[in-house]
Order: sequence, then structure tokens, then C-alpha cells
Amino acid sequence: MEVFPISYKTTYQLSLLACALLLTAGCSHPKNAVSLTPDEIVSGTPITASVSPSAIPSASASDSSKGPAATPSTQPVKSGVAASSKPSVGTSTAKPTAKPTAKPTAKPTAKPTVTPSAKPTAKPTTKPAASPKPTAKPGDAVTTIAKPAEIAVWVNKTRKLPADYVPADLVEPNVRFSFSEKLEKRKMRKEAAGALEKLFAGAKKDGVILYAVSGYRSYKTQESLFNAYVKRDGEAEASRYSARAGTSEHQTGLAMDVSSKSVNYQLSEKFGETAEGKWLAKHASEYGFIIRYPKGTEKITGYMYEPWHIRYLGKELAQEVVKQGVTLDEYFNQAIPVTAP
Ligand SMILES: [Zn+2]
Repeated sequence: MEVFPISYKTTYQLSLLACALLLTAGCSHPKNAVSLTPDEIVSGTPITASVSPSAIPSASASDSSKGPAATPSTQPVKSGVAASSKPSVGTSTAKPTAKPTAKPTAKPTAKPTVTPSAKPTAKPTTKPAASPKPTAKPGDAVTTIAKPAEIAVWVNKTRKLPADYVPADLVEPNVRFSFSEKLEKRKMRKEAAGALEKLFAGAKKDGVILYAVSGYRSYKTQESLFNAYVKRDGEAEASRYSARAGTSEHQTGLAMDVSSKSVNYQLSEKFGETAEGKWLAKHASEYGFIIRYPKGTEKITGYMYEPWHIRYLGKELAQEVVKQGVTLDEYFNQAIPVTAP
């Protein structure tokens, strides 16, 4: 039952299978999932950041033509979450990498699928510190995150993890997987793994059977993956669903892609319409997770709707983000538009 069925008939499904087994995208699987052969998996040069410890990256003028001049949709961070859960601002800047040229094709829809969970009980214990200032103009420069091991670490297209960051406490959660191989992608950081087990158990109680598809992914794996997608779809399109090395939440060990038998364990938008996907959207925050890339937020997060990608933040922060009805990027006071206006 934990084994990925092999009875797929179409190449599409086979390619998805290959993806699910081997790599799984930046998280994602656009409709046309890629099937990689070893020679397609090429390594690129890691983006290196020139570290200058004192410099808090400030808004850079470089490459500003790429992003809309629009102000990031900011949602003031309300009280409710201890200041300590804010990720620290990175300390280095790097050359611009994002080429936000993709044409917006996703039809923006009204609401994120996340629905607020029951009464958030979190009482502010500390006055939140001032909201982190956007470290760069959207789409401009990439900041290297100074404290990648924080549970609240904020990773996106402009905030990358150090290339050599590997979480120290990776373990395999005791949950159902969509595949049987012992691969690195089974892993998550200990705290997140424990929370995932509870989430899966909670789902089962409600008659919902979830499958874990892809968790931790190393910098190298992500690098190969992204390069392969670029080769297939071009950089702009690949960027909509896959992350450059260092900018994937999967490298944090705090993200898991989840699917269900009802969609053949695929990572597709259809999952959001299933009973399993709906259950996940409704209950994830009760276990400390959020749907990281909700429907209709591509211009903010830079990624297509991914109802399958959950990110562990801890209960308090996850529930606060959901309560505010914003993406994590908006919560941290920065939107990352990647499409031209
Ligand atoms: Zn993912």
C-alpha cells in the first residue's frame, strides 16, 4: 500500500512517476512532468553570494525593469507571533538571478484555498520586532539567508539558502509514501517530521489517506532538477514551477509534497479539488503547516498554485499566517512578483 503502483498506462503518468521517484520538482509538477535521463541531469554552477556581513541588502536598482514597480502587497504583521519566529534577514547580496519574463497565464482566482482554522489562541508573548524590511526590490537581487536552520526560515526566489546548508536533524517520518525506495526525499527535519506524522494520523482519523511524495532535497539535487526543467521548458516557464538551487523550500527539510491515490499520487492542481486536498488545506495549520503556494498568488510567491506543497512553520506561526489570510511572503512583508506587469 505504500508502494507506488506501477500500472500506469500513459507516458504522462510514467513521466510523473519518474519525477516522483527521482526528483520531484521545485516542488512541482506542471501538467507536463519531465522525465529525466541521467545525461539530462547536468550540474550548473552554484550561485555564489559575496558576503558582506554588515551589509543588510538594501533595495537595489539593478534589474528593476524586470519587476513591476508596484509596491509589494504588504500586510502589516500583526501581533500574535513572537518576534523570535521571524527569520533573520540575510547578510549578503548576490547578483540578480531571476529572469521574471514569464507571461502570466495562471488565471488569478479570488481566494487562497487555505481556510482559517479554529480560534487562534496564540497570545503575543513578546512585542514583535519591527517588520523585516524588504531586502531588495522584488525580483532584483538574491539574499543569502544567514540562519537557514530557523524553523521560520523565509525562502523564496530572492532569499536563498547557502549552497552547503544541510539540515542537521533530518529523519524519516513514519508516514505513507507514494514510493518504496529509500531516498533522501523521504526525509524532513525532526520537528517537521513529527508534525507530519500527526497530520497524517489526523487525516486518517477523518478517513483521509495522504501520501508523502517528496520532502528534503539537497542543493545539488535541486540544481540538477532545475537545469533539466530549463532545458525542457525554458527558463521563464521552469521558474514558475521549479526553484533554482538554494531557493527551494525542500532544501530546508521543512517542506513535503503530499498527494493521494485519487489523483494517482500526482502533484497536480487536481489534488486541490480532491477530498484529500481539501482536508489538507483546511487542517494543515492545526499541525503547524501551511499551503505555501495558494491559488491565485503566483504574482506574490512566484510559483504556480501548488495545493500539494506544505511547509512546516510551527503551529503558532502557521495559524497566524492562515488567520491573516496571506502568503508567507506577504506575512514577512515582501511580495515577489516575477511576472511583468
Ligand atoms: Zn514542494
